[in-house]
Amino acid sequence: MTGQVKDERFEFQAEVKQLLDIVIHSLYTDREIFLRELISNAADALEKLRYQKLTSQEIVDGDLPLEISIELDEKNHTLKISDTGIGMTRDELVTNLGTIAHSGSRAFLKYLAEGDKKDVNLIGRFGVGFYSAFMVADKVTVETRSYQPGAAGCLWSSEGTGSYTIAEAEGLRRGTKITLYLKEDAREFAREATVKRIIKQYSGFVPFPILLNGDKVNTVQAIWTKNKNEVTEEEYNEFYKYLANAYDEPLLRLHFSADAPLTINALLFVPKDNFERFGFGRLEPGVNLYCRKVLIQQQSKDILPEWLRFVKGVVDSEELPLNISRETMQDSALMAKLRKVITSRFLKFLQEQAKSEPEKYKEFWKNFGMFIKEGAATDFTHRKELVGLLRFSSSRSGEGELVSLKDYVERMKEGQKDIYFINGPTKEVIESSPYLEVFQDQDIEVLFTHEPVEDYILSQLGEFEGKKLVSIDQAALELPGTRKPDGDALNPEQVEELTRWLKEVLGDKVTEVRESRRLSTSPAIVLNPDHLTGSLQRMMQVMNKD
Ligand code: ADP
Ligand code: MG
Repeated sequence: MTGQVKDERFEFQAEVKQLLDIVIHSLYTDREIFLRELISNAADALEKLRYQKLTSQEIVDGDLPLEISIELDEKNHTLKISDTGIGMTRDELVTNLGTIAHSGSRAFLKYLAEGDKKDVNLIGRFGVGFYSAFMVADKVTVETRSYQPGAAGCLWSSEGTGSYTIAEAEGLRRGTKITLYLKEDAREFAREATVKRIIKQYSGFVPFPILLNGDKVNTVQAIWTKNKNEVTEEEYNEFYKYLANAYDEPLLRLHFSADAPLTINALLFVPKDNFERFGFGRLEPGVNLYCRKVLIQQQSKDILPEWLRFVKGVVDSEELPLNISRETMQDSALMAKLRKVITSRFLKFLQEQAKSEPEKYKEFWKNFGMFIKEGAATDFTHRKELVGLLRFSSSRSGEGELVSLKDYVERMKEGQKDIYFINGPTKEVIESSPYLEVFQDQDIEVLFTHEPVEDYILSQLGEFEGKKLVSIDQAALELPGTRKPDGDALNPEQVEELTRWLKEVLGDKVTEVRESRRLSTSPAIVLNPDHLTGSLQRMMQVMNKD
């Protein structure tokens, strides 16, 4: 029984109103995902409780089993979902269910406002999953009691239009119970068969029992601790979908365990799409940290370097002290060791993929190459491994074909000492520029770069396998072979006269005008007196403007 004491009305934050308006008034094909969102919130709350149990002295209703329970009432058209997780205090209710705390939500609103393919399915990915309840319900109540002794139980209630109320509620056990009063056209969600199918489809891997009208529906298992040959392809994919809030399959998967130098069980995925590349803002890290199947840190910022923020998965290490505080995690030497081992293993895996599944690696490179470049430019610890993963187009690569530095070195011409590269906006533009002429004449391959970061990496690197990396727009270029002037060439005096006249006309715009031996059809070429490539100079000019 819940007795109401005080009843206070609150306005939703403007962004929440806007979001609810869209959620309530859009037409969807996939609104059943609301259940996945509520179950995933319940599971989060249970994980947090499990963690608190390790560190807190006193927990309200400490003996309650950790589980999720769903009760359906077909006659009254309600769906109730309750968990025995951490619950919420009154203040937490206001913050969590009245405002949008995550930056991702603004991106979600923008995403929904743009374009016509409104895929509300993605709602969970943006951290606003709770509000999806209003896709199927015209009234939602939340009864909740925090695990903290002394916090009062509360009843939150809203019709999704503009405001909500909170009242004190007595007699609640620890955790949260959410009641959905189903819309007329959503009454199917009170049917057991429907709900059972949805749970199996989306939430089969929730690591807590899910009871539907009293019967357990899911199989609780931590597949990352199993042997590879005990897990089916389908189980892996389902697990990924659960973990990443995804509706499609992953592009790549790495499941590995190690005993030395640390005991590790890890299951890592690369998604198909890179939302950061599409302008949705910076990705949040996607790997959860466990110790013997207990979640220590969700979406850990410490377990992988930032440039691997696109990776989703689970890392379980027995060495992690269970009661390690989230704050000290960052500084722990153990974490640093763990990060290094896992990062190296993952990079080795990418290297293997590039060899064994080149087409897949190409797909990976297209979507996630930006992160490899970011790493190669910023992370000295792993630079060598990262450089091996870089891919370029080149004067010799066909349409869509990519070249690694190793490929390049392997097919260098006899007598060629350096690795040549040139920056330009596209392959076509570079191919029609005079820089390439002499290299084409002599059949020497030139790598193409299209972004300043690539030039930055190559200049920083300086050399690869003992071969100097040289940008071919450098004036001080040592050419592989020099062309002999032919019959009707200018004599030295004429050359002298022409270059003096050009210098006069061009004035300060150039440092020097010189006779060139590198051109065959173009009359002139602009070269770079410095060691910076043209693209890096342009980048510095932009930076100096501020
Ligand atoms: P997200 O889960 O990405 O944080 P949601 O909109 O799904 O976003 O939920 C918002 C917040 O509300 C959660 O972060 C959590 O703090 C709180 N919350 C939602 N459901 C529960 C629950 N069952 N128990 C405890 N807290 C919850
Ligand atoms: Mg959620």
